[in-house]
Amino acid sequence: MALRFYNTLTRSFEEFKPINPPRVGIYSCGPTVYGSSHIGNYRAYIFADILKRTLSYLGYEVKQVMNLTDVDDKTIRDSQKAGKSLRDFTEYFTQEFYKDRDLLNIASADIYTKATDYINEMVSIIETLLAKGYAYKSEDGSVYFSIEKDKEYGKLSHLDLGTLKEGASGRIKADEYEKDNVHDFALWKSWDKADGDAYWETSLGKGRPGWHIECSAMSMKNLGQSFDIHTGGVDNIFPHHENEIAQSECATGKTFVKYWMHNGWLLVDEKKMAKSLGNFYLLQDLSERGISPLVFRYFLLGAHYRSKLNFTWEAIGGARTAYERLAAEIFELPSHGNINQNYKNKFTEFISDDLGTPRALALIWEILKDSTLEPADKKATILDFDKVLGLGLDKLEPLILPYNVQALLKEREEARRAKNWQLADEIRRKIEGLGYVV
Ligand code: AMP
Ligand code: ZN
Repeated sequence: MALRFYNTLTRSFEEFKPINPPRVGIYSCGPTVYGSSHIGNYRAYIFADILKRTLSYLGYEVKQVMNLTDVDDKTIRDSQKAGKSLRDFTEYFTQEFYKDRDLLNIASADIYTKATDYINEMVSIIETLLAKGYAYKSEDGSVYFSIEKDKEYGKLSHLDLGTLKEGASGRIKADEYEKDNVHDFALWKSWDKADGDAYWETSLGKGRPGWHIECSAMSMKNLGQSFDIHTGGVDNIFPHHENEIAQSECATGKTFVKYWMHNGWLLVDEKKMAKSLGNFYLLQDLSERGISPLVFRYFLLGAHYRSKLNFTWEAIGGARTAYERLAAEIFELPSHGNINQNYKNKFTEFISDDLGTPRALALIWEILKDSTLEPADKKATILDFDKVLGLGLDKLEPLILPYNVQALLKEREEARRAKNWQLADEIRRKIEGLGYVV
């Protein structure tokens, strides 16, 4: 089966045909570094990671760029609250993000871009938009994008501009806003007192960029004016990605991105997990309850990336039992086998169909149960799949077993060393009673 993805732009499944095969450029909207990323955010980055790993697995040469939003309304507001410089404040959360990324076995992007390193590129796009008449300066010196001038505005979020409310022709300075507030949006925000020392002196005057222009500048600088895939969560579709398309395409006259891919919400009590709603969990909260980051990853892969997924302690507990069992079974299998081509073909088919990770996980369990397969071949085949799934199955240590099982294993080892076979057997039965095979 050919590789196909669901494209938000066309609202349909499309065969994936990169612009310059075998190279593929991916831009993934990354964290706004004003606090620790929560596990809802990590759903977006794990989805992008699976996408990148899938393309590499299928033989493409992937270049993934991820941004770090280190200047916007939220970073400025919260750095001031913390009494820190914008740079120190955002650097702290950037390092936190990298730590979590590694714990979740998310492969590093090829390039991480900080918005504050791309101010010149942003100014240059804005100057072009002004020169072409797509942007205008307001009384206070800020620059806005005129959505009325862009005949294609709304094509990603499928807005019907003809039915816009009276008064929607105004302007909006805030970075984030809802669909019923469609307005000309800020490309450049002239400095005001609330910005403190977060400003740049540029040809546009003293000020700072709007959030949306940041991603246009960072992506095009590193991937070219037209590139293959742009990712983010569904909340990024409007206004962020809609505005990115408008600015970029009006400035260059070219198609900005071929495939737009968006992950669905991670929910809590059927509501979006969000920092602003206060209903979020951090990786740390999970660890405190004995849920490792890789168990969380396993939990996510059990649902399709575009579906909504409700987080409950019961559901994550189920994922923990399954993952620990999987790890224990694989740990026991001998190495140096061969990859089973039949299963590999099935796996390739599942992930090529818009990243079907739930079916890929089910296939792993099918392999483990298949008594016609050599144990070493089972392991080789599953480890091959893990290049895409990233469940850390290639570096398993007994350590990932629950603490009580680890302790029992140690006791059993001691009993065996002391040649106390009866005790060793008793402990083995206890371990088996907990669902682990020794
Ligand atoms: P932010 O730091 O707010 O810009 O968000 C970073 C990424 O996380 C974006 O791609 C968001 O769409 C995504 N995101 C935020 N909350 C959730 C959630 N509850 N479920 C899935 N993705 C989310
Ligand atoms: Zn972005």
